[in-house]
Formats: sequence, C-alpha cells, structure tokens
Amino acid sequence: FSLSFWWCGMEEVVPFPSLPPNWTYAYSASVGKYVFWEHGAQHLTRTTHPLTMLQYSKLPPSAEGVIAAAISAVDVVEPWVVNAVASLISPQAVPRMTAVEQRALVKAAFQKLAVDIVESSGRRPSLVDIGQAELKALAIALGIESEVPLEHLISSLMAKVGSLQPFRGNVANGVGQADLVGHHNNQSTAVPATPPAPQPPQPRQSKRQLIAKLNEDFNNRVITKEQYDTAWASMFQEVKVQKAQEFGQVDPSLLAQQQRLKDEQFKMQQQREEQARQVAREQAAQEEKMREAAREQAAREQAAREQAAREQAAREQAAQEQAAREQAAREQAAREQAEREQQLQQLRELQQLQEEAQQQQQMLKEKNATRRREQEQQEQQERERQRRDEELRLRQSSAMPTHPDHPAFTTAIPEPASGQPEGAGFIPFYPHHSDPAPHLNQNSTQPAPGPRLNRNPPPPPSRPPNFGEAGIPELPKQLPPQLMTFTAPPLANGEYLSPPEGELVTKYSYNLKTGQWLKKQTRVRIDHFPFQEGTLRCVFYMKDFSEPKGPWQDYVAKISKDPDEPVAAYFQDVQMQALAGSYAEEFCQRGLPKLISYIPAAVIECHERIPSKPGGRVLFNVEPYMYGQFIKYTNNYGWINPGAPRHTPQAFSHFTWCMSQGTQLVIDVQGTTDHNNVDRYTDPQIHTARGQDNFGKADLREDGIKKFFETHQCNQICAQLQLSPGYHLTGRYEPPPRTPLHLSHLQGGPPPASPHSPT
Ligand SMILES: [Zn+2]
Repeated sequence: FSLSFWWCGMEEVVPFPSLPPNWTYAYSASVGKYVFWEHGAQHLTRTTHPLTMLQYSKLPPSAEGVIAAAISAVDVVEPWVVNAVASLISPQAVPRMTAVEQRALVKAAFQKLAVDIVESSGRRPSLVDIGQAELKALAIALGIESEVPLEHLISSLMAKVGSLQPFRGNVANGVGQADLVGHHNNQSTAVPATPPAPQPPQPRQSKRQLIAKLNEDFNNRVITKEQYDTAWASMFQEVKVQKAQEFGQVDPSLLAQQQRLKDEQFKMQQQREEQARQVAREQAAQEEKMREAAREQAAREQAAREQAAREQAAREQAAQEQAAREQAAREQAAREQAEREQQLQQLRELQQLQEEAQQQQQMLKEKNATRRREQEQQEQQERERQRRDEELRLRQSSAMPTHPDHPAFTTAIPEPASGQPEGAGFIPFYPHHSDPAPHLNQNSTQPAPGPRLNRNPPPPPSRPPNFGEAGIPELPKQLPPQLMTFTAPPLANGEYLSPPEGELVTKYSYNLKTGQWLKKQTRVRIDHFPFQEGTLRCVFYMKDFSEPKGPWQDYVAKISKDPDEPVAAYFQDVQMQALAGSYAEEFCQRGLPKLISYIPAAVIECHERIPSKPGGRVLFNVEPYMYGQFIKYTNNYGWINPGAPRHTPQAFSHFTWCMSQGTQLVIDVQGTTDHNNVDRYTDPQIHTARGQDNFGKADLREDGIKKFFETHQCNQICAQLQLSPGYHLTGRYEPPPRTPLHLSHLQGGPPPASPHSPT
C-alpha cells in the first residue's frame, strides 16, 4: 500500500487501507490510535483494522511525509493546474513541453523542496528561507500566501490539492461497468497466464462505490495487483478526458492575462522582499559593529584585570620566596649548630676512647712485662737445668752440636749494619730485583699490608705427612683461595710488625767445616703477615740490618705453624742445607754444563717476641730472598716433577749417594735459577743409611733411598760423573778429577763464557 493510494481514496489522509462497506472509523485521542466499528455496533469499537488486523496511529507530522504526499498528488491533479504551475516555473519552456513533461517538471520542483527540507532538518524552513521562486510561484498559483510557515503552506497545499481530486464533485459521472470489464478483458488477453475470474452482473454504482468495491476486492485477494492498477488507470483516464474537454473551453487569452498579472505581482513582491532583506542586512551590520566594539572594550578590561592579577601573583611569589630563604637559612644555622655539637660530642668520645686505649695499652705493657719477667726467670731455670742435663750428656757421649748453648757455639762481635760486606759475606744472586717489602726498610713508617691471598692453599696438616701409593704426598682436592692470616708470636707491645728501628735477634750461622755455630746480635724487621704458606710452615718477608743496605738485606723468615715444633728442628734444617751445599760444591767442580748451589741458611731467635708457651723460644729459619720462578723437582719419596724433567737435579741426588759412599742421599731438590743460569736450591732433605744420625722426621732412611732409585733413570750427567747405577754401590766411588771453576757459584760474578741450555 502506498501513501498516495490511501490519500487518493479518502477525504482525510489516513494510514490504513479503505474500510469495508458499513464500517467507519474515528481517531481516539485518549487511546492515541484509530478505532473502528461497524454501523449500528458503535459500542463494539476496536483498535485493529477489520481487514489488516493491525493498529494505526496518526501519521507522524513530518514535513517530509507531507511533501511526499504532495509529490504524489501531482500525478492526479487536473492538467490545467499542472500547466499553470509549470508555466510559473519555466514560462519559456512550457509551450514546447508535452503534458507528461510539464507534470515531471512540477514533480521535480516538489522533489527539490523535499530535499531542501530534509537537508535543513532541525527546524521548519519557511518559503523565504528556501528562496525557491518556483515554489513561491506554486503557492501563488494555488492561492496561498507565500510568507506563511512551511507547515501551514503544506497543510494549505494539501487542502487545495485535495479539493482538486478527480472524483470530488464527479461521483455521479462514474466509469461504466462495461468499460471496466472490457478493459479487464483486454488485460487478460495480454496476460493469458492469469485468466480472469468471471464477473457476476452488478447494478450500476456510483464511482465512490466502485472504488470501495475495488479496494475490497483487492484486500480480499479477489483481484491481482495488476488488475487493480489497471482499473485505477482506466478510471483516471476517463476523468482526464472529461477535464481536458472542460479545459479546452477556457479562453486562452484570459489565462495569459491572468498570468501576466500574476507575474507582475510576483516581481513586486520580490522587490519588496529584497528591500526588506537589504534593511535587515544593514541593521545586522550595524549591530555587528556595536558588538565588535563591546568585545574590544571587554578584551581591554580583561587584559587590565589579568595584568593586575599577574603583578599581585608576582608580589606574593616574591614574598613566599623571601620567607622560604629565611626559613632555609634558619634551618641551615640549626643544622650547623647540631653538627658542631655532634662533632664536639664525637671529639669527647674519641678522647675518651683514646684514654681508654692508652690505659689498656699501659695495662697490656705491664702485663707483658710481668710475663716477660716470669719467662726470663723460667728460662733462666730452664737453661740451668738444660746446662746440667747437657753436661751430663756430654760426659756420657759426644752428642750432635745442634743446641745453641752447646760449647761448640762461639759468639761473634756484632758487625756494623752498613759499609762494605764482610769478606765471607754473601752477594745476592739477583742484585737488580725490585724490593719485595719496602715497608720493612729500616726506619720506614709504612704500615704492613693486610693478609695476602693464597691462590693454592695448603691442605690441613697431617702428622706425620701422608704419602700416597706413588710416593706423592697426598693432596686433597683443590681448596678455594683464602687469606693467609697466620702470624708469628707478637712483640711485647702487642704488635706483629717489627718496629721501624728493627727488633733485636740472635743470628746463628753454621760452619760445616769446623762444625761450629757462629752467634751474633743483630736487628731485623719481620712482616706482620706471611707471603707464602705451606702445610707445615709460613714464610715472611724480612730485612736483615746486619747486611749492607739494598738487596743484600732481603731475607725470608720461615716459622713452623706447630707451636710444639722442637727447637732442634730449626738448627737441623740449617745443618742439612750446609751439608747439601758442600755436596753441591763438589758437584760443580766436575766440569758439568750446569752449576748449582744451596743458599746459606741460618736461625734467628727473637728476644722481643712473646713465645706461645712459657719458657719457649721464638725461632725462625732465615735465608736470602730468592727471586724468580720457584720449582720443586723431586720430593723425598721418589716423586719426579713431570712438568720439569731436568737431568741436573736427578744426577745431583745420585751423586750425593755415591759421594757419601752410600750413607746419605740429598733429596727434595727445589729452587730457582739466577741471572747467571746457576741453579739456587734450598730446603733439602737428607735420607741417611742405617747407623747414621737421623735428619728429622722427614728422613725416611732406606725406605726413601730405595724409593728414589725406583724412579731414578741415570742420564748423561750421571754417566759423566761415572755414577754406579742403583742403590747398591760397586766398590768405593771415585769421582772424576776436579776442574777449576771460572765462576764462583757462591759469589755470582760475570755470566759463563758460553751460555748453557738447561740440562
Ligand atoms: Zn743416576
């Protein structure tokens, strides 16, 4: 159903199809819907349409809907109305246009009106706003004032167009039944697929009744849509023919005169409107100027207010900053005052602590002095007892002179600590080495370094040393690096580092040829912490001030980590090293490619240190500092360093066994090589055959000697020395004749005439 259909069939525009005969309708404002009832049954009103069974409200009062209705109305208005409107829209073109083209022109004008209304939705435009001359012309042609609001125009337009409906006032001149049926038959022959149903003869009806019947048939599906449209078209065609005949009777000159009159009225109206618009524009411009002036004035006042506000804010900001500065200054003064008081307090506490420390130190000194006196008394008693025991032993047997109080010991006059080295003095092997311990130089006040790091810490001590299957001392798994914090016994004042002037010691040197111990007083400085640590001993840097200044004073001091270490062990080590040194002298005088020597060792006894046990003695083994890479070639149980397979250390041990005629074997060969390519050895061990004096707990006797020969392979040096292979000697050993030495292996000197590769 189209809107135009409903509108064309009814006097009022209603949104539902035509009702069946004997039905009527009304709009119920209270319900907000249309109500329907059959004649004579007004008490049975209903809100549903009797045909569609739908409910209907009033059409929305939208301009678009009404304009759409007006556009559709153009299809049914009288041809003379269309001609008049089209002539107003385009007077020049209309005389050449057909009736269909004129109707299309008018529809386009209505369509444009609808588009304008939709585009300017939000308000109802008036004709003046739209400014469409053709629409105004249309309104004038229809006898409507052009200045009325659009909705009024539209309602007037509707009323006018409705009054022009073709069937109004022409109901009596309806379409004949025969024409309608004949038209229908023509359609059926044109469309044979839909044969017409036979129509029963009906009495002649009014056109209104015919339309109602047509609607009813269509609503009841008695006729098809095509048949329905064809019936309508034939009815309109009949009406058009009739109206055209009426239109032809009108005098065209009268129409033209009327048209000219209307044109003049339209032009005058346009001029009046233009004048009114001009006045309105000028007035608007004047108002705009006044508003502009007012805006400028307001802007000036606003700027003045803002400037005043800024100045006020700046004044307040300055005042706040001044207050903040004063506050900060007060706080700073308070803080400084507090800091001064705190510093004073700390100073007082520090003074108190210092006084306490001094008191404690004084007490410690007194305590140490007391202990020292007690120890001296005990030592005196001990020495007297030992002397008595020694005299007893001497009377009984000729014991080994390992004790410093043995009558074999002699006392030397202390040598001056500066000047030329004494004639039998020792020349360092490395005269150009850097000072390993500058803080130990005499009168140096440098503090001692802290504990040093031992990257290869020794395993825990095991007594006796634990040897494995292959004669290699059993090494536990690698320990993580650790600091060497062991210290020697402290000095009387609680310090461990010797004082800058040095501490007083007695130095015992051994003369192998005379079998005598040389005893002299000297001053040394010993470091606080060791620089090497082994399983059994720790090694400290030491300066011996009895030597000339410079590298000659660089010594090392070794002390046992075991506080119960026997005193004799220190002296025995010196004797062993001297004995090994005498073998080395013999070895070097056989024209061999490599010179070797054992550096001289000594014992010092510290008189200013407090022994760990009452009556004990603080002893160190001392020897010159050796510069260079220290290598251990063999141990005391057949082990040979696989990383340093040398001929000379092996041949030297074999040589000592033969040279002693099978009584002593110097083993545990270790040391460095000096700048003259001379091997400098230290810390030897001597295995002794049955019946000999024992050299300490590491003297493994025949067991160790046989172990050496199990792994020893005689080399070219053994052959050069004519050594008899193996443990058992074949007769008395006679070494090769002596060869004069070009280089004193003890005193260094110029390098050998030709360099020797290590052998
Ligand atoms: Zn050999």
